[in-house]
Amino acid sequence: MLLSKMSLFALFELLFVGKKSVVVPSFAFSRLPSPVSRLPSPFFKILPQYGHKMKMPPSISPLEIGFDFDCVIADTAGTFLKIVCEEYNYCGYSLEDIYKFDITQCLNIPSELVMDIFSSLEHDSSRVPPVSGAVEILTKLAQQSHPTIITARQKTGSVGTWLENNLPASVDIDAFRLIGSGSHDDKLRHIHEFDLRYFVDDRAETCETLAGEGIDSIVFDRPWNHGRHNLKMVKDWKEINRLIRWGE
Ligand SMILES: [Mg+2]
Repeated sequence: MLLSKMSLFALFELLFVGKKSVVVPSFAFSRLPSPVSRLPSPFFKILPQYGHKMKMPPSISPLEIGFDFDCVIADTAGTFLKIVCEEYNYCGYSLEDIYKFDITQCLNIPSELVMDIFSSLEHDSSRVPPVSGAVEILTKLAQQSHPTIITARQKTGSVGTWLENNLPASVDIDAFRLIGSGSHDDKLRHIHEFDLRYFVDDRAETCETLAGEGIDSIVFDRPWNHGRHNLKMVKDWKEINRLIRWGE
């Protein structure tokens, strides 16, 4: 049986992958490009080799990992879709319709309206619910480290308020390190400042840039980052939980 599977891989590699291939343990990846993801091996998957070296995710110290805010911790995109339907009658869209990070390129909604809604959510995030599981893991992190949130927002006041409103009262919000980089492309220096090795973000381009600078980027699975990277991906906070080495 094992031999037949190995033969299948050898045939696959010969036909589709060629010399540019790497063999990696299957547990390292939660999502793989088709048709690789459909390979039946319990042990190995064969991947095309892309720009950045693929690394095995070791268990991560709570002190070494940082997070983006919008669409990783807070469901900003989901809230946008709710508002644009309920208040402006642009209905029928789902997250899967957002196939690019720039929503204005995906949805038939005036870009001015998109900007206005996101701007209002940036200044007041009280309407934005947490992404499922985020509160529980951030609470655990705050109990044993200083969770670092680096957002492309200019200011972090609304993020602090959001944490106060959504995390249990027992959590010390001052334990959090909140940084507003003001740009999607200016997160690296803050990541270095806090000696982070891992960073979770939903913007594939940000993750690719950080990976190019030696940071272990972890892409938070969202429709707009599909097919745009070959980095480690997590589909939810349960997977983040499993990556963290708790109890340090
Ligand atoms: Mg984001």
